[in-house]
Amino acid sequence: MSENTPAHARVRTLDEYHAAYQQSVEDPDAFWAAVAEPFTWRRKWGSVRGGQFSPEGQSTWFDGATLNITENCLDRHLEQRANKLAIIFEPNDPRTRHLRLTYRELHAQVCEMANVLKKNGVKKGDRVVLYLPMIPQLAIAVLACARIGAVHGVVFAGFSAAAIADRINDAQASFVITADALERGAKQIPVKSVVDEALAQCPSVKRMLVVEHTGWPVQMVADRDVWFHEEVMEVDKNCPAEEMAAEDPLFILYTSGSTGKPKGVVHTQAGYMVWADYTFRNVFQVEENDVYWCTADIGWVTGHTYGLYGPLLAGSTTVLFEGVPTFPSPGRFWEVIDKHNVTIFYTAPTAIRSLMAAPIDHVLAYSLSSLRILGSVGEPINEEAWHWYHQHVGKGRCPIVDTWWQTETGGIMISAMAGITPSVPARAGLPLPGVQPVLLNQDGTEIKGNDQEGYLAIKGSWPGIIRTTWGDHARAQQTYFQPYPGYYFTGDGARRDEQGLYRIIGRVDDVINVSGHRFGTAEIESAINESEFVVESAVVGYPHDVKGQGIYAYVICQNGVPTTDIDIQRTEASIVEAVVAHIGRIAKPDKIQLVSGLPKTRSGKIMRRILRKVAEGETTNLGDVTTLLDPLVVDEIVAGKK
Ligand code: ATP
Ligand code: MG
Repeated sequence: MSENTPAHARVRTLDEYHAAYQQSVEDPDAFWAAVAEPFTWRRKWGSVRGGQFSPEGQSTWFDGATLNITENCLDRHLEQRANKLAIIFEPNDPRTRHLRLTYRELHAQVCEMANVLKKNGVKKGDRVVLYLPMIPQLAIAVLACARIGAVHGVVFAGFSAAAIADRINDAQASFVITADALERGAKQIPVKSVVDEALAQCPSVKRMLVVEHTGWPVQMVADRDVWFHEEVMEVDKNCPAEEMAAEDPLFILYTSGSTGKPKGVVHTQAGYMVWADYTFRNVFQVEENDVYWCTADIGWVTGHTYGLYGPLLAGSTTVLFEGVPTFPSPGRFWEVIDKHNVTIFYTAPTAIRSLMAAPIDHVLAYSLSSLRILGSVGEPINEEAWHWYHQHVGKGRCPIVDTWWQTETGGIMISAMAGITPSVPARAGLPLPGVQPVLLNQDGTEIKGNDQEGYLAIKGSWPGIIRTTWGDHARAQQTYFQPYPGYYFTGDGARRDEQGLYRIIGRVDDVINVSGHRFGTAEIESAINESEFVVESAVVGYPHDVKGQGIYAYVICQNGVPTTDIDIQRTEASIVEAVVAHIGRIAKPDKIQLVSGLPKTRSGKIMRRILRKVAEGETTNLGDVTTLLDPLVVDEIVAGKK
């Protein structure tokens, strides 16, 4: 990028990748010290890596250093980039005006909001829960917390009151920031009233700051609720950044909960910062004039690291989008790309698949000529979606980075570096420098060599590694470090292909064992999705007398659920044919249920534990469904069980 991108912070060729990788493994201290050098530190670190990477311990990075991440996201850029756009806000309704904030303006607004928080009693170390739509104030509030050393906990503004209350209570938050309402497609949805309901169960919360967004009427509770626009009139535009220790918590983020009770993943100041910046610059091969758009909500880790912190640390321009991909039409993403000349676009397979189902004219109506790099995250991208994305969005000219990582890893772990390391459909690719993936057997021995499959684990620590789960360190130890001592356990299964590229097969729990043959659910789904009738599918295993496990497929069809026998038969036959053609007879689904929707979390992931229970015949005790996008699909699925 510019003067503050020294050579070691940025890999530009395949040879440089190999050299950086080798150094990161052989001499991690020297490698990461060099990467960390150009940041703004109040005090330098004592040790680069420390603590204990063990089931009992906890890693530390840059311990002894002090810093403030917002000085690195904002103040540091004011000399060279004060008038450069930091944030382009694209509202839900394209007829309303978009908004642009330069680095200077963003800096000022963050300082003001930080002062509002201080005025209302928020102190370093306090937990502040943010329940806000994707508007600039969400980004500003996150940074304002970081400015004063408060720990932010963003809760996606679509979660139910019960889900908010769980998270507030787990974090023992004393302060909440929210808005009156949000806009989503053609609808306005009240927001503050949901928090009001939650707070009935949350004695720790003393105050709530309310941002006026849509003008929706709200009830302000005396002695608890204050308006942002009133408070901000009374504060200074200057807010010196709090000096934070490297290992002070920066944020708590609850994972999407597709596998059970949400975990409060904790990331700290320095390691997270260095990891977010390094992975952002390298994976997306960012240049000074890029306009970068990550469609993820800041409520997810992708929005934290690649919607906000990564781009701002790198001094880039990031697009913040309030709306949905299908409003006012399924061409909205493409329209926004042309409108703001987006050069790097990062989205999720679930969005790609839903837009694939719309007539292709919605894409063809836009030039998309500004694009140079495309990214995918959140789940394995099936080959059909990969090719569609590559051909129709990237016009065959943009490399795709399929980025594998987790809330717990803080940033991207395995991915192509755009245009540099190999990008192959259905492969995340090679590990980033600093990441040592291994495949383990069930007994924990490493599987060497290529063309192998096993449990994906990471040997050794990296700067963005999860430090703890909030209030329950034992849970982090049990979940990630005890299963295979000496490794961080990802919970995902993976295959290392003939060339050493990693393919993520899916969660370990999602592997189906049919008569001794192990299949990843993603593999079977990818095959099913090849049928011309299919939009999306989810498969799970269920107990089968003969095979051990049988395959139960839930399938969404192109033109809705077929109603006539002949259509049903034709669809099912095509599904079976696709599986037989792409995998083999052995992976043929035993049961196929045609459905109108799948139980998805708000981040677009299928909540398989529900599908598994239904397939197993358990239809009453389905557990917490409050984080589902549309809990009603569960009723339909239960009713239609095969
Ligand atoms: P929970 O841990 O609460 O069940 P979650 O795992 O869905 O929630 P995230 O941390 O957002 O929460 O998601 C990480 C998971 O998403 C990975 O472990 C992996 O299963 C999947 N994933 C993310 N990116 C990719 C990718 N590029 N390819 C394949 N799988 C991916
Ligand atoms: Mg997970």
